[in-house]
Amino acid sequence: MARPSNFPPPFSSSDYVAEPTDPAEERIEVGVLIVGGGPAGLACAIRLGQLLEEHPDVAERLGEVAVAVLEKGKQPGSHLVSGAVVDPRALRRLFGNRLRMDELPTFGPVTGESVYVLTRRAALSIPPPPPMRNHGNWIFSLSQLGRFLAERAEEGGAMILPETAAQKLLVSHGRVVGARTGDKGRGREGGELGNFEAGSDVVAKVTVLAEGTQGHLTGVALDRFSLHGENPQVWELAVKEVWKVEKPLDRVIHTMGWPLRTGKRYREFGGSFIYPMGKDMVTIGLVVGLDYRDASLSVHDLLQELKTHPKIRRILAGGERVEWGAKTIPSGGFHSLPQRLHAPGLLLCGDGVGMVNVPRLKGIHYAIESGRLAAEAAFRALQRGETPATALSSYDDAVRDSFIWRELHEVRNMRQVFGRGFFVGGALASAMTVSKGRVELGKMRAEPDADQPLLVTDRDASYPAPDGKLTFDKLSSVFASGNKTRDDQPNHIKIERRVPREVARLWEHMCPAQVYEIGAEDGDGTVLLEVAASNCVQCGAITAKGGRLTPPEGGSGPEYTLT
Ligand SMILES: Cc1cc2nc3c(=O)[nH]c(=O)nc-3n(C[C@H](O)[C@H](O)[C@H](O)COP(=O)(O)OP(=O)(O)OC[C@H]3O[C@@H](n4cnc5c(N)ncnc54)[C@H](O)[C@@H]3O)c2cc1C
Ligand code: SF4
Repeated sequence: MARPSNFPPPFSSSDYVAEPTDPAEERIEVGVLIVGGGPAGLACAIRLGQLLEEHPDVAERLGEVAVAVLEKGKQPGSHLVSGAVVDPRALRRLFGNRLRMDELPTFGPVTGESVYVLTRRAALSIPPPPPMRNHGNWIFSLSQLGRFLAERAEEGGAMILPETAAQKLLVSHGRVVGARTGDKGRGREGGELGNFEAGSDVVAKVTVLAEGTQGHLTGVALDRFSLHGENPQVWELAVKEVWKVEKPLDRVIHTMGWPLRTGKRYREFGGSFIYPMGKDMVTIGLVVGLDYRDASLSVHDLLQELKTHPKIRRILAGGERVEWGAKTIPSGGFHSLPQRLHAPGLLLCGDGVGMVNVPRLKGIHYAIESGRLAAEAAFRALQRGETPATALSSYDDAVRDSFIWRELHEVRNMRQVFGRGFFVGGALASAMTVSKGRVELGKMRAEPDADQPLLVTDRDASYPAPDGKLTFDKLSSVFASGNKTRDDQPNHIKIERRVPREVARLWEHMCPAQVYEIGAEDGDGTVLLEVAASNCVQCGAITAKGGRLTPPEGGSGPEYTLT
């Protein structure tokens, strides 16, 4: 049976580690460089702003630009996709008495919740299991929250550089000294076009990688400094839509079961979320573990199928889809965390290192908390004027003392148990939850998603035909993401293009943005894969399943506003 990992991409992380090359006077010098304008990176920038305001002497020493944030999206929020029901603890700690929760761009607190186990036609209501209880949490659009946090970071003095992708990790004498941004204006084959602009070396005393899921430089840094955790990281793929609806939804809904199959051999783990966004919008998404085996599985099409369920059709009746998005979620949990969260000159936060509580479907509060703790560790080192290799180790101590560590430890094997099938997995997960993680299952082995041997079924035969009202094809969905990637830029997706048909079929069905198409068959049973890279919405699934996503030209990709 074919495994995608047998066909590795033409990618070497050492190609993305470099010494600074710009002449010293042309380098952009900043105090702290943050890569990624998501909740982790922006929380880090906001906290640094607060600390530097209290200590102008340190700010003075850091020079003209004390804090800079590189964001590859058109603007902060453009590449943010989430649910999002947010545990407010970290936001409250970040803002203290500076801002109340209701002063943030929120759709308000959760007012009720339901959990259903679905079959094709029926929905069995069950009491929400502990991880799905959301009393006290608040509903947001992460894309909107990202824009708001970016404004707060700028008010605090941070320089936000949108449309700027960090391409290479700058390392000098074993120490991270910043990042090199990507070139702009290159043609398909890499040649310089009329509007060519070379990337720049942005050098910093401390670099914080807050790139989120499948972080490009985070992966490079984990390799370069041998930081990988005990277990490999694994991911889920989530596809979601935002709908304008006629009737308000009065609660958050989670579903399990259909359209996923419960049989162990399929390894289909996941569920859906349906959250209200004020009185006239709802968001609906489906999350599926990328350790699934069926090459015909398409999360996008399963979401379309889910919407045809009578229970869900009623929620969307008379409504209109206004946005669509897709993104992966790291789900390896505690045992997949890196061995250390720092290296000389470097700190690692948020989804990039897998800080997500998968049974709760929550990572935003960990991203914000880790960003805040990274800011404090960076500040302590800068205040003392330290740059030695161990100066940033207090960040690891702070994370180990935080609720992030405690809670991830409690649910440490939660994701792996579902590899034993839905029912056994569900029973073990309940035992762990009820005992708050005291049921000891030992460290459960995890295999990389790309190592799963493939099987091929006719699963795709039951996907509903797109009607443009309730159900949609992939290309119109890419359009609904606002994707504006230039067609003639170099291909940013690294994959082996000649592969067995099953592997090509896996990638073709998996990609929610219709990037891959099976082309000519060779006599030896392999096929050539055609790649339409400009459709890519940078969800990251291809990295989990055997290829490698690298950041395209800054400003490319989706322009999410509500996801
Ligand atoms: C569909 C879905 C539903 C979810 N639901 C919930 C929920 O309800 N509640 C919850 O708490 N969590 C939820 N999560 C998880 C949550 O969204 C993440 O844990 C959280 O967004 C992580 O924040 P982050 O800052 O680490 O990364 P991200 O939010 O991914 O932000 C990273 C940012 O860095 C930028 N970036 C990345 N690489 C580079 C680079 N090289 N150069 C420049 N910029 C770069 C990206 O463009 C992005 O803006 C959900 C996730 C998904 C996908
Ligand atoms: S090509 Fe882009 S959109 Fe498609 S799976 Fe890969 S990262 Fe996701």
